[in-house]
Amino acid sequence: MDRKMVITCACTGAETTKAQNPALPVTPEEIADAAYDAWRAGAAILHLHVRDEKGNPTMSPRIFKKTMELIRRKCDIVIEITTGGAVGDSPEARLAPLVELEPEMASLDCGTVNFGNDYIVNPLPVMRRFAEAFRESRVRPTLECFDVGHVYASRILIDEGLVEPPFHYGFVLNVPGSVPYSIENLLAFQHALPSGSFFTVMGIGRASLPAQYGAIAAGGWIRVGFEDNVYYAKGQLAASNAELVERAARIAKEAQFGIATSDDVRSMLKLRR
Ligand code: ZN
Repeated sequence: MDRKMVITCACTGAETTKAQNPALPVTPEEIADAAYDAWRAGAAILHLHVRDEKGNPTMSPRIFKKTMELIRRKCDIVIEITTGGAVGDSPEARLAPLVELEPEMASLDCGTVNFGNDYIVNPLPVMRRFAEAFRESRVRPTLECFDVGHVYASRILIDEGLVEPPFHYGFVLNVPGSVPYSIENLLAFQHALPSGSFFTVMGIGRASLPAQYGAIAAGGWIRVGFEDNVYYAKGQLAASNAELVERAARIAKEAQFGIATSDDVRSMLKLRR
């Protein structure tokens, strides 16, 4: 098994609620437990959002710090924090935890897109500011693309020297109002990549499982978790984030992949230690 599959777990997100799945982790303690269980099940990367005392999404550096410290006491999972935040957050608020806490990785949204009845706004000047903050803090970005045009927009940042290799992309497919998941659409994103890029595929909602098989077929990596999807099967809620990671690891192994450790990711993506 020379080829290794990198599994990211996005355990909480900004939009998912306990009403949708009571097993959603929201407190720092719950998130740390979920991260540990996901890591034991095969996740090498944790994509991290945090919530305030009321369970609402927050970009509070204090809560990120507390959560990251709790996770670190349990395991060495690579922590990728969000800089997307929640719909409507200002760029300053979205960047605050990255600047203050300098995680190993963070997401960097590469454009503007419909997000259900809302929209995510990232004009190129904002993207440049973000990329500069990442570079100064030496945080490896996951270049998140909700549309194939976002892949081309990311290449402007690369051409301007604001993002350096190795490049890691996140393709977010099946967001309502944006690009549905299909293998053809996934390949269109992949064809737009700079050569040698790594990419993780995220299928939102019912696209989660097909996107895992698509990632395996296309040579990409997998993301699962309650941010993207709260179901294990049609009409059956997932018992935990770890249950979704376990299945992802199982199908990757069946496809003759080894499961990448967090240290494998640190060396593949040349993360700052
Ligand atoms: Zn996220």
